[in-house]
This record gives sequence, C-alpha cells and structure tokens, in this order.
Amino acid sequence: MKGVDRFLIPRPRGELRYRCILCEGAFPLDRFLYTCPLCGGLLRIEDLRFEELKEVSPEGWREVFDRRRFLGVEVLKGIFLFHELILPTVPLEDVIYLGEGHTPMVRANEELSQWVGVPFLLKYDGLNPSLSFKDRGMASAVSFINYMIRHKGLEEVLGICASTGDTSAAAALYLSYLPKERVRSVVLLPEEKVTPAQLSQPLGSGATVIEVPGVFDDCMKIVEELAERYEVCLLNSKNPLRIQGQKSYSYEVAQQLGWDTRSLVVVVPIGNAGNVTAIMEGFLDLYRLGLIEELPTVLGVQSEHANPLVLWRRTGQYRPVKVRPSVAQAAMIGNPVSFPKVAQLVEQHYGDRFVVVEVSESEIMEGMLMANRHGHVVCTQGGEAVAGLRKALAEGLLRPEGRFVVKSTAHHLKFAGFQQMYFEDAFPPEYGIRPKDELKNRPVKLPASAQEIARFLGLKPKG
Ligand SMILES: *Cc1c(COP(=O)(O)O)cnc(C)c1O
Ligand SMILES: [Zn+2]
Repeated sequence: MKGVDRFLIPRPRGELRYRCILCEGAFPLDRFLYTCPLCGGLLRIEDLRFEELKEVSPEGWREVFDRRRFLGVEVLKGIFLFHELILPTVPLEDVIYLGEGHTPMVRANEELSQWVGVPFLLKYDGLNPSLSFKDRGMASAVSFINYMIRHKGLEEVLGICASTGDTSAAAALYLSYLPKERVRSVVLLPEEKVTPAQLSQPLGSGATVIEVPGVFDDCMKIVEELAERYEVCLLNSKNPLRIQGQKSYSYEVAQQLGWDTRSLVVVVPIGNAGNVTAIMEGFLDLYRLGLIEELPTVLGVQSEHANPLVLWRRTGQYRPVKVRPSVAQAAMIGNPVSFPKVAQLVEQHYGDRFVVVEVSESEIMEGMLMANRHGHVVCTQGGEAVAGLRKALAEGLLRPEGRFVVKSTAHHLKFAGFQQMYFEDAFPPEYGIRPKDELKNRPVKLPASAQEIARFLGLKPKG
C-alpha cells in the first residue's frame, strides 16, 4: 500500500478547539482554559477536522501507526506516535519526548491468574520516566506549553498542580526540561499524604513544593482558585491537554493487541477520573476511525475508603464522599474532577460497558503483594486493579470469557512504605488492614558465616 507513505511522518494538521461538554461552546486553543467561560462546564479538546482523517482507511492508519514504531524518529517513540489523535496542530519539533509511553504488556503469571479467576495481561505504566502514567498527560500538556512559547509568543509560564504525588512528579519532571528563565514549576501537596519517594521527585526536579494541611481535594480547590484568578497554567487532569496525552494508553493497548479489541475488558483504578476519561475517549477515537470494531468494557476500581463512583453506579446519584485513609493513596479522592465527563461518556457511548467495583483496603494490599510475589511489579493502585478484577468476576459483574488488560498505574517502589507497614503489621486502625502471615516477609539477620546460613536454610552437604 504505497498510498500511506506520505502520512508516515506527521505534519501539523487539524483544527483544535476547546469544547464545553455542557453548552457545546467552542473556544480557540490560544490560551489555557480549564472550564467553560460561558457556563463553567468541563472542556474537551476537539479536532474540527477529525473527519478528514477518514481520507485514510482503517487499514491505512493501522499500517501508519505500526510502521512508525520502526522509523527511528525520536519524538515518534513516545505518545506522539499517535500525533493525529493527540495534538495534531503541534509540529514535531516542539514535542517533548522524555521516554514516556509504549509500556510493556506482560502476561500474568499462571498461579496469579488462577487466584484472580482468569488469564490477563498487566500493562506496566509504572515504567514511564517518572514512574507513573501521568507522564503521558504531561508529555502532551508540556509539549503544548513549549509550542506556545516557541510559536505563540508565550513569554512566561508558571505551571502548577495539586497532587496525590504522581502528578507533581510528572509535572515537575517535564517542566524542568523547558527553559528556566521562562518556566516555573510549583506543586501543591497534602502534608504527609504522599510517600517519601513521591515527595523526593518534584524536589529533585527543582520544583517549588508547597505542603498544605488537608487531603488532595483541599489542594485541588486551592489550585482551581489560583487558576481562576491568576495567570498560571493548571496541570491537573482538569486541563484537557492532559487528557489528550493520556488517551495514548488506549491506542497502545489496541495496537499491542493487534487492533483486535473484541470482548476486551480494561481494568483501571479511579481517583480523580482523568485516567478513566482518557481511556474511554481514546478507544472512542479508534472506534470512530474504524481502527477497532468494538469498544471495550471498562472496569473501574475504587477503594471502600474513596468510592464516589461506586456509590453513583449503585444509587444513580452522584455525591462527593469524605475520604478515609487508603493505601491506594493516588486514588484517594472524594470528589473526582472529571466525573461529569465520565457520566457523559457512559450515557452517550459506554452504557453497560462501564462497570465499577469496590474493594477493601486489605484486598488492595493482597492484590499488590500477590502480583509482586508472582513476578510482577505493581503499585498499590495496580494492586487495587488486580483485586478489583478478581472481585468483579467473583461477584458476577463480569463474565470470565473476555480478554483482560489490567493497568498498573505506577511503580511499586513509590509505594514500598505500604508494603513495609503490611509486613510489620503497622497500619493505623483507620485503614482496617489485618495482614495475613503468609504474605508477610522480613529480612533475617544472621552471622556472616556460610555454615550458619546453611544451617538456617536447612541445606544438605554435597556428595
Ligand atoms: C493519578 C493516579 C491514579 C488515579 O488516576 P485518576 O486520573 O486520578 O483517576 C491511579 N494510580 C496512580 C498511581 C496515579 O498516579
Ligand atoms: Zn459551557
């Protein structure tokens, strides 16, 4: 098929607008907007010329995306491999590529699959450069900032975000790549609600780190107010530029499955709901272009301690909840900012293909520990997803016939402290976690003697 050669290297194309999900108002992308200036609704980014992409057939696009992987073009090694579907107006020379995307998808160990109830695949988004999937969204948002600086006369930017830990690590990393005289980086964290590893990341990237009392939802309110009243660039997933990049997760899953998404179930932990929004929008793009024949089922997983979407699906009514301490700290959010987008995507497209399940704090820890003792590397949120798949199957919410891809959203080591608390039985009572002895592990102190170690291990002498 000679015809697609000219599409292999993407050139700027399309016409992007912010589009309000409530009043349908459209606004140009010449400034940073997070909510509709007319009605306050959330914004999507829409390509007014999306339909023109259909000048290439679905087979043509599959070929383009598959062949791009082997071109040796640096910026196409990341999420911008899917340039047309992310920020098609941004020229490749403005794209920031720091090694994000194209994370491995690994077949779950057989014993683990038996424990969960089905064979499944784990996609390791903890192997992104700042060790979480948030890099996908920062690669797009910060590439756009770079484009605005280089081509649109943007002179100074103060990038700011509230975070449960990983957003700030990713924002600080990507912003630190831009010129210091133009770009400042500030993160707001809830005091003592992020792990030491997560705190070290934005500090190491040179960001200004502000700790405030409270939980994530409190920090979010503050940055929302700052974004409304001052000239700052909000880098939370309320910023639709973030969602554009995070859609790449879905494109990769489809590509890694050979573009066959029939009977597919994707499993994700839900916090602020930006991730699940992006995943649903991503598959929708592919579906609209005919690259996949079927939308997948999306299984969202929440902790009993932060479960607004579970309650919404159960009662039909949405109400923010007050969160309680959760080991899935990155998802410990009582009032997910992107909820209205999720509700609309479910109403208009996903329907019964959107399922939510709730797991206990103990189940989250068991999901993580079981996965990791069977050759995998998952964080507490990944453990939450593994546990959620197990529970949804046990409760009959999902049938075991499908194919299952579980997202491990961050790297295990960011959350190693929770593993330690489990091993030492040191959880404060609010978590409600009672560790199982068979899942505990501790170092053993022995004298520096081969004989003593052999005796401890019960080794038999040779011969
Ligand atoms: C941000 C995050 C989540 C939750 O994603 P949302 O978009 O907030 O729903 C889950 N796991 C990890 C590791 C995260 O960093
Ligand atoms: Zn509006």
